[in-house]
Amino acid sequence: MLAYRQEHPLGYRMMAYVLVCSLVFVVLSTSIQAAIEYRREMRVIEQRIELIRNVYLASLAKSIWDVDREQLRLQMRGILDFPDISSLTLEDADTGERLLLSAGEGSAARTAEHRFALRHETPLGLRNLGQLVVHTDLGAVYARLGWSALTLFLGQALTIFLMVLLVMLIFQRMVTRHLESMARYARSLGIGSRDTPLQLERQPSARSDELDALVESLNDLRLGINQDIERRERAHEQLLFSREQLRRMVDKRTRSLRQAKEVAEAASQARSQFLAGISHEIRTPMSGILGMTQLLYHTPQSEQARGYLDALRQSGESLLAILDGVLDYAKLEEGGYVPEQQLFCLQQLVEEQSLLAEAQAQGKALRVSCQIEPQLSRYYRGAAGCLRQVLANLLSNAVKFTERGAIELRVEGVDKAGSRLRFAVHDTGIGISAEQQQRIFERFTQADESITRRFGGTGLGLAICQKMVVAMGGRIGVDSREGAGSTFWFEVELQVAQPPATQLEAPATCAPALSLSLLLVEDTPINQQVICALLEHAGHLVQLAEDGRQALAVCRQQAFDAILMDMHLPGMSGVEVTQAIRAAADSLNADTPVIALTASVGVEDIKGYLAAGIAAVQAKPLQPAALQQVLADLCQSGDDRLASIQPQEQDGVDLHLLAIHRQVFGQARLRSLFEQFGEQADGLLVQLDDALQLDDLYEVGELAHKLAGSCSTLGLLEAARLATALETCSREADDARCLALFTALKAALPSNLRRARQACEA
Ligand code: ADP
Repeated sequence: MLAYRQEHPLGYRMMAYVLVCSLVFVVLSTSIQAAIEYRREMRVIEQRIELIRNVYLASLAKSIWDVDREQLRLQMRGILDFPDISSLTLEDADTGERLLLSAGEGSAARTAEHRFALRHETPLGLRNLGQLVVHTDLGAVYARLGWSALTLFLGQALTIFLMVLLVMLIFQRMVTRHLESMARYARSLGIGSRDTPLQLERQPSARSDELDALVESLNDLRLGINQDIERRERAHEQLLFSREQLRRMVDKRTRSLRQAKEVAEAASQARSQFLAGISHEIRTPMSGILGMTQLLYHTPQSEQARGYLDALRQSGESLLAILDGVLDYAKLEEGGYVPEQQLFCLQQLVEEQSLLAEAQAQGKALRVSCQIEPQLSRYYRGAAGCLRQVLANLLSNAVKFTERGAIELRVEGVDKAGSRLRFAVHDTGIGISAEQQQRIFERFTQADESITRRFGGTGLGLAICQKMVVAMGGRIGVDSREGAGSTFWFEVELQVAQPPATQLEAPATCAPALSLSLLLVEDTPINQQVICALLEHAGHLVQLAEDGRQALAVCRQQAFDAILMDMHLPGMSGVEVTQAIRAAADSLNADTPVIALTASVGVEDIKGYLAAGIAAVQAKPLQPAALQQVLADLCQSGDDRLASIQPQEQDGVDLHLLAIHRQVFGQARLRSLFEQFGEQADGLLVQLDDALQLDDLYEVGELAHKLAGSCSTLGLLEAARLATALETCSREADDARCLALFTALKAALPSNLRRARQACEA
């Protein structure tokens, strides 16, 4: 029964309901039957009592009157023979005592008593002879009724049970088993077997019934699903085809864009090369002129000659300033300008610029002053060079456009921490109209022609200031009224710093007294003289080599503390000579730091120098203080120096490259670079994931290439290797390996980046 319940729950439930209902019905019908039977029995008993009354009473009275005992006994026995009469008693009319007791037992609890008066007609009238008491046995009646009800109930229950079983068997055969096979079929449709239509195991009949309708619906459903799947497959094929078309189009477009980009890059490179070439051509003779002028100051000369010398120096310096302006702007516009981070004394920097302005203001009725908010820190780390240049520019403009009154340089903290500073240069000069204020930060823009005629200038100064302030992560602006004066201001974020621990860390103005043995590789005679004189003046011992060949020969004979290498040498270039010195087995200077002296200081050039193992770059014409500082930095500790120029991989990051980055960008800028990279890399990983899911291996290759480039630039060697492998794999269309490499890259990148950040913070 339990098994039936589990296998056919519906059949089981129906059977249970039908059984319960039938039982109720049987109980009801049996009860009604028993009630009818009871009434019938009672009626029979009453008829018998009536019979006794009508037939036997008169003859009994006569027998009593005649005192015919034998007759009386016979008559009473006759009454007792009636069914259900249990006992008869004659009672005396006067005493009420029993006269004659029959054999019946009236003791049963369920008996009914009937009393009849016995009277006899005598000539003297009607005489009362006593009473006949008749007891009927109701217990027997009840027992009979009970038995007949029980048999009736059992008979009906059995019949109904058998009927239910039969109906269930028929129901199972005609309905349930077909429902079950329909359920099995519907399940099989769901799991994909949709080839055969449903057919029930039963005799086909002319008239279709509900099951046939259900089978028909299921078969229609199967056809519908099959058609839908076919439609979708066709759409998918169409989509694949369109995607392939699109991919081809994108490939084509990408190729043409790449070509256009290459053309644009070539043009930009040509412009950079042109600028670098011009810079080299002008700077080299200029450095000769200025160097010679400087040396001439040390020789005795007449007052007039000194005047000429001053004029020569001033003209040379202003020409250099214009050239610097053009080059600075070009470099800033190229986006490759990275301000060098230095520790500096704020007061010293501000006072220096104020003094310079004061010197420029000589001859004018001008008061120049500076004021620094006292709460500000004394030392900061940041782009001191940029700050100097922007301040010098704003102050020299203020002096240029103010005839009388005052020029004031103010420095205030903008935030509570005192790390965001506001520099403001206020003057009482000619002022700028509101309309002109909109334009003066654009390159080559001056307020108007009359001003140009009167004051000269290139219109580049403020454009450079703006780009530099933006490069420092700040903003610049002007408040001015025509005729009333102007206030040029800028805000930048600087890092509050502790006072320098050693002299070496102090700004370039206090370079240490070092005496080094140096090799100068330079082909231009005038530059040889100037640079040698400057270096010797600073106390160094200088050995000269005129070209790469000579330099290699000298390097085999003598070890130097540092090598100063012109990059533009006849025959071998400075880069090639450096590589040869590094590679030569018999060189005594394989690890000696090389400082490039060059006018080619574009981003790409510097990258090339660093890749060739050059430790530092100095732009021509040489700034003696800056060169001295670089020498001090490079030669302060041999071990540190070696560590900083050897490529070094640890935990998947290039420590050497990171050290260079830290040196070039400074910690704060590098930190924000890492942040930017983190966001960019997250975006690329999401795009890679999408491309892999779409199975777009071309896109995977492009994205992996991008990521590999950024990773290797930042020194994340492990991530770069995985990204490069992913790129290669995508070109080979190895889906499974691509997926595995992507998973590995996704896991490695964050830890690799974290490690690089730690290395930079250390
Ligand atoms: P320039 O080399 O011509 O000075 P700048 O970019 O430094 O170029 O300045 C652009 C123009 O802005 C100047 O020609 C001048 O008209 C105006 N300007 C700059 N500073 C001041 C100032 N302090 N007062 C009045 N005008 C100024």
